[in-house]
Amino acid sequence: MKTNQSKKLYKKGLKHLVGAVNSPVRAFSSVGGNPIFMESAHKSRIQDVDHNTYVDYVLSYGPMILGHGNKKVIKAVKTAVDKGFSFGASTAGEIELAKIVCDAFPEMDKVRFVNSGTEAVLSAIRLARAFTEKDEIIKFSGCYHGHSDALLVAAGSGLATLSMPGSKGVPKDAVKNTLIAKYNDLESVAQHLEESDNVAAIIIEPVAGNMGTVVPSKAFIKGLNKLARKYQVLIIADEVMAGFRSHFGGAYELLGLHADIICLGKVIGGGMPVGAYGAREEIMQMVAPLGGMYQAGTLSGNPIAMAAGIATLSELKKANPYEGFNETAAQIENMLLKAAKKHHVKVTVNRFGSMINAFFTEQTVVDFETAQSSNVKEFATFFWELLRQGVSIPPAQFEAWFLSTTLTKKDLKQTALAIDKAMEKVSE
Ligand code: PLP
Repeated sequence: MKTNQSKKLYKKGLKHLVGAVNSPVRAFSSVGGNPIFMESAHKSRIQDVDHNTYVDYVLSYGPMILGHGNKKVIKAVKTAVDKGFSFGASTAGEIELAKIVCDAFPEMDKVRFVNSGTEAVLSAIRLARAFTEKDEIIKFSGCYHGHSDALLVAAGSGLATLSMPGSKGVPKDAVKNTLIAKYNDLESVAQHLEESDNVAAIIIEPVAGNMGTVVPSKAFIKGLNKLARKYQVLIIADEVMAGFRSHFGGAYELLGLHADIICLGKVIGGGMPVGAYGAREEIMQMVAPLGGMYQAGTLSGNPIAMAAGIATLSELKKANPYEGFNETAAQIENMLLKAAKKHHVKVTVNRFGSMINAFFTEQTVVDFETAQSSNVKEFATFFWELLRQGVSIPPAQFEAWFLSTTLTKKDLKQTALAIDKAMEKVSE
């Protein structure tokens, strides 16, 4: 595998970009080696600057659920571009995307579009505090909700990858209202609620993807619903990653979680920068200009981003790929388990809808602690061999792998061979 051009760009990038990247996980810190620079992508495949092509399971960390370069999405974006980039005024596209999103989430009467998942979540938390007039938030260790101050504690994703407990530059006061609980552990939530009457909301990734894929137990979800009712706290479902990945709506709904506020991002922008938060009328009434909770954005509801979102969600609804996603994820799980057994590697596979991960551990992975039992050195070996075999997964143990509607039989065949070779490498 040639990487000369990537190496050159990496060196050049180091001069004016921090670590030559604009988001830390792209730096390949936890798998070692230099990052690969990408040049173009088509359907299920992505090509780097050295012209190596890979079956892409990164999919821009989730948004490209229709694969790359969907013709309908490109056409919608081109049409929008011709009309103008940004107006600082409302457009019909915002109303259209709002309807598609609200129709997909029964609990959502109204939605507000923002520019990223981070913005969606930080606004949702402000909204929960405004609505309940309480300050504290319960969050789960290993869940990642973007990089706003109050949520950068015990967070998964890049922080987990870089083994950082939190971020420098976050004042103690900014996290004093963030209480940490354990995923899949009701007792840890109940304890906070027993001890404090100042909790506004419990925020959760209904299916966690930022400690790798971790699925909640039915009892945990049922218990969360009960606790939220008992102590009158809101539940914020952070569906930025999981939204539209397991059915045309939120994973929380499939799991039976009663969400009050829902956060979205990634898929709803189809690769353009979009986030959103929404809730029932009574809660959304709090948001300016209707209510006293202020939140704004120069580029929010950008017409080009809205066009990409409308086209993506419309195509997704038509394609209804969810049964296929389950089957493909099951196939990949089988490939992983078969190859692991053949080469005597200890592996646990978790999956939900179009999200899947292999953890290099014997333990059942149910929370951040058990996720961290994965042997990250083995993961790094696995990652690099997959890449050499033309298969790209995120360069970090604690990031979910994603499926797109464009995966072909040929891609899966190549994936199976690559997994076999990669497991063999791990066993050496
Ligand atoms: N919430 C979840 C569950 C996420 O997975 C992410 C990003 O990966 C975010 C929030 C932050 O979104 P963004 O990176 O668009 O700011």
